[in-house]
Amino acid sequence: MVKKVDKSEEEWKAELSPDQYQILRQKGTERPFTGQYWDNHEAGTYRCAGCGTELFSSDTKYDSGSGWPSFYAPTDPDHVKTEADSSHGMRRTEVLCGACNAHLGHLFPDGPRPTGMRYCINSASLTFVKGGGHGGHASESTTGRD
Ligand SMILES: [Zn+2]
Repeated sequence: MVKKVDKSEEEWKAELSPDQYQILRQKGTERPFTGQYWDNHEAGTYRCAGCGTELFSSDTKYDSGSGWPSFYAPTDPDHVKTEADSSHGMRRTEVLCGACNAHLGHLFPDGPRPTGMRYCINSASLTFVKGGGHGGHASESTTGRD
């Protein structure tokens, strides 16, 4: 089970950059090919930018050509959740962090084998932690704060 993170909008606003706040908390979308990670090919783990929960591994990242980081499976199905999203006149599936409820991106059924799914995720929703293997034990990261 993933530990739930519950913070007020004010707390999120104080912690996140304006871009991250807009995407994670207001369900925004970064412009394609502008994010930090769509073209990142390094081995490592992608964690939630809001709460640090491990979401995706470079093992399941692939080049979808969409301009957003794309994964065919989450590291742990408990760590992400999906919800029907009918905003913008489209029927889509929203992908959220299972711990802090942050908006991550959308899920599309056009991914590669073995899942056939594409988790289309905003770079701004992710924090990349370099390093091989599946990191089970989170070493508390305090980088990126000033
Ligand atoms: Zn989170």
